[in-house]
Amino acid sequence: MRLIMFGPPGAGKGTQASRLSERLNVPQLSTGDMLRTAVARKTPVGLEAKELMERGNLVGDDIVIGCVLERLQEPDATHGFILDGFPRTIGQAKAFDTELEKSGSRLDAVLELKVIESALLDRIVHRARAAKAEGLPVRADDNPDALRVRLDAYRAQTEPLAKYYHDAGLLRTINGLLPIDEVTAHLLIELRL
Ligand code: AMP
Repeated sequence: MRLIMFGPPGAGKGTQASRLSERLNVPQLSTGDMLRTAVARKTPVGLEAKELMERGNLVGDDIVIGCVLERLQEPDATHGFILDGFPRTIGQAKAFDTELEKSGSRLDAVLELKVIESALLDRIVHRARAAKAEGLPVRADDNPDALRVRLDAYRAQTEPLAKYYHDAGLLRTINGLLPIDEVTAHLLIELRL
């Protein structure tokens, strides 16, 4: 299956994509993780992305599209994938559609996790605290200032994709405020699994 997880920061995309990835036996492709790895390794992509990510801004379309297309060449992605955090702009979505068309494949669904904005800040603060308590590194953008920028970027650049994929007949919207197991159950129902 070829799926996109879609929703604002803190909606639970990563958690649900990871569960679906295990269930469907397809890789979870998180552009945020790819970029964080590039930043940690100080690659040219990482050097370009670092400041933008820390502030909560989006990284340029060309860079992100390049990362995704390269990752999709790997053998584990030939029979399916769950994209987590991509596309985030209409430009990325259109470029991705062109690539899918070239390869003769198509998306099965775009899964939207709907979460009201007031719940997102709480979730992000909780995620940062939980990481700290476990001795894990806290994301540089998991703080109130960067979150505000990330939410603005979501509203301005990413939310219009809901209409784009709705018009394409691919959008499935799930209430992301439900408990984690229930969200997973609803996702599986939407996928008729
Ligand atoms: P995430 O882990 O998905 O929350 O992404 C963390 C950060 O990585 C975002 O705030 C952006 O700075 C960057 N990023 C991840 N995916 C994309 C994308 N598709 N387009 C642009 N920037 C991205």
